[in-house]
Amino acid sequence: MKRDCPETAGGIRCQQGVATVHLRSRAGYRRAALIVSISVTLHFFLEAMPTTAQKINLLDLDLPDLENWIVAQGYKRFHARQLLKWIHKHGVTDFDRMTDLSKALRAQLRETAEVRVPEVILEQPSSDGTRKWVLQLDGHNRIETVLIPDHTGRRNTLCVSSQVGCALECRFCSTARQGFNRNLSVAEIIGQVWIAARRLGERPLTNVVMMGMGEPLANFDNVVKAMNLMQYELAYSLSKHRVTLSTSGVVPALYRLKEVSDVCLAVSLHAPDDALRNELVPINRKYPIAELLEACRYYIEGDKRRKVTFEYVMIDGVNDSDQQARALVRLLSRVPSKINLIPFNPFPGTDYRCSSPRRMEQFSQILIKAGFVTTLRKTRGDDIDAACGQLVGQVRDRSRRQLVGLKSGARG
Ligand code: SAH
Repeated sequence: MKRDCPETAGGIRCQQGVATVHLRSRAGYRRAALIVSISVTLHFFLEAMPTTAQKINLLDLDLPDLENWIVAQGYKRFHARQLLKWIHKHGVTDFDRMTDLSKALRAQLRETAEVRVPEVILEQPSSDGTRKWVLQLDGHNRIETVLIPDHTGRRNTLCVSSQVGCALECRFCSTARQGFNRNLSVAEIIGQVWIAARRLGERPLTNVVMMGMGEPLANFDNVVKAMNLMQYELAYSLSKHRVTLSTSGVVPALYRLKEVSDVCLAVSLHAPDDALRNELVPINRKYPIAELLEACRYYIEGDKRRKVTFEYVMIDGVNDSDQQARALVRLLSRVPSKINLIPFNPFPGTDYRCSSPRRMEQFSQILIKAGFVTTLRKTRGDDIDAACGQLVGQVRDRSRRQLVGLKSGARG
């Protein structure tokens, strides 16, 4: 640490913690010894103290938060918009480069604030163009985020994580195996988007899906703020049709979501009846299918064109029979739906296998014939373990494996 102090009358020049003493007499020696000892004590005291109070990470603030903060600093509300644009649209983290802010404001920002983005410690490109980034959050926790460009390069979808690990224990998901540590902050969620936008360069980030590690509705407030940031014109300008939240079905939080957000909804269904879903997606024991579908209907109510996307992972011999496809048709007949069939992605330690291509085709034909818009999702990035359900990062598990985080996340 550098710390300068001016030359003292006693003849001590103290610079960067080094004391030079000029001596003229015995008394001078004693005085000098005293001053040196005070100076050394002071030096260690100052070393131990933080140089400034903890700085606020501006990446943690959405527009209302940023406005409140900047006004509290004695500046005008509109400065928040300038800052937001610099940070998110232009990717600038150095206040000195924010040239339309006054020098005084820049100086104050340097003292009190910072723009701290999670550190990318590994970038893994897949042979199919998918890119996975491993982000270091703090000493113990790493998360993963995945960029999925389409074959034209015009559509770039980012799969964003919302928690370190996951508490939900879905049987077919690798993230679940790791347990749960904590929710991501707003900065850690929007930081993934910030990083992808910078690394895409000229190419636009066109879509975000909250389908990475974690259950987004169990980290409600931070996820909503981050999704707001994604949609601001001053930030990433993504329309509500291009941001999708995927949930395994935290029903009370779905009702809350409708009050504060309007993004697209995807629901991880994976089974056409409660008995099987209880086993595959244990949160179903708390919020069974009928309650979940009622909440889905409510979420899209009022907009006749809207549909909920139901995700259904295809697991060999578990949920992929014709009978189960027909049961799914009956179940979803009263909810405006699209169905997204996902080939099961294997991971070490799982006994499940993916359904055969023929089985998936037959299953999807039953849905299509019944009138559902059905897509069979192509597996992307599986050579780098970046496909659905394969994200693991590094999680220091602190869960009691009891649907941790749901109470606070779901009901706020
Ligand atoms: N917790 C949220 C979002 C994370 S999982 C949710 O449950 O929706 C994102 C999607 O990947 C979900 O549909 C999930 O069920 C699916 N998924 C998880 N593990 C998978 C696997 N091994 N193979 C294929 N899809 C998987």
